[in-house]
Amino acid sequence: MAVFKGMVAAGHEEVAFFQDAETGLQAIVAVHSTVRGPGIGGVRIRDYRDEAEALTDVLRLSEAMSYKAACAGLDCGGAKAVVMGPFPNDRAAGMHALAGFVERLSGRYIATEDMGMNESDIALLNEVTRYAVGRSLADGGSGDPSPHTAQGVVVGMRSALRAAGMSADFEGLRVAVQGCGNVGFGVIERLIAGGAEVLASDIDAAAVERARVAGACIVDNDDILSADVDVLAPCGVGAILSEQSIARLQAHVIAGAANNQLATDADAARLAERGIVYAPDFVINAGGLINVADEVDPHGYNATRVAGRVAAIETTLDHIFAESAHTGRTSAQTALDMAHSRIGQASR
Ligand code: NAD
Repeated sequence: MAVFKGMVAAGHEEVAFFQDAETGLQAIVAVHSTVRGPGIGGVRIRDYRDEAEALTDVLRLSEAMSYKAACAGLDCGGAKAVVMGPFPNDRAAGMHALAGFVERLSGRYIATEDMGMNESDIALLNEVTRYAVGRSLADGGSGDPSPHTAQGVVVGMRSALRAAGMSADFEGLRVAVQGCGNVGFGVIERLIAGGAEVLASDIDAAAVERARVAGACIVDNDDILSADVDVLAPCGVGAILSEQSIARLQAHVIAGAANNQLATDADAARLAERGIVYAPDFVINAGGLINVADEVDPHGYNATRVAGRVAAIETTLDHIFAESAHTGRTSAQTALDMAHSRIGQASR
């Protein structure tokens, strides 16, 4: 495994491998940048094929967290942990071992939830380390991140509509939402409340039914990407914007919550060539991170401050689209440039 090669390529500060003899837990923590503050990022528990696959995932995900935090203007950096599944049967013992790993990083890494984790796991981590956030509201934490992510998507969509030369008013707007889960459903509810006509799809029958009851028109998941709409909001899985799907898009704007929507870097240019305005995923979906990162504030979580920062996603995107129009660089590249520049500025 060429660990240093990967670290140097993306500028990671630190990669730590941990193992706990008692529980058998094995984890890798990658701290991409602490220039703007401690690296915040979720713990992903997955049955990785091997260490190389886990390492690739943790390097990629931690780097993305730095860019998301920087574009959101947060005083924190990017990091991530991956745990080699299956997780020990004794959940509490496994979480305590994981918390011990986190504690050894002395606050350079602050853990939160990702795939395979939930709020009660964060509470278990907190029994050993204070460097874990994402507790429930009842526990004095920041609670469910999804409504904040959904709100960020909706305000970001307005910016993207203006960039496409369209009205930012949702009345009569046609939006296709792929994925009606925690975030997608929140997006659907907000759009319908604003007067939009929503087409929605999901692979899960219960999620589809909930969206239908909320007033969405359900379409086949195979047809959602090419639906005749103004906006496509990907809120399910990543890598859905590919050479093939982009050729079939009818939407003028892409604005959704899913992570890593572009199948390859070249797809940003493909969208631009077709005149489709793309709201970079790691900018528009930062609401959840903004919410959870607020727990780290020395004065404690503040819902008003969170709402202000989520609302600011709209102006951040305004800036990115204006800069992109000025330079001719894609919106995705412009957002990356913004992140690099902010991380660079903070280090001076
Ligand atoms: P979720 O698991 O609650 O919902 C995802 C939904 O997408 C589910 O209903 C699932 O059935 C559906 N889905 C899965 N594969 C699909 C496919 N191929 N086609 C259509 N639907 C599909 O997850 P979520 O929290 O709503 O997150 C949605 C997306 O947003 C994910 O990509 C996630 O990484 C990203 N995201 C979420 C947050 C957050 O705050 N929850 C923050 C940032 C990014």
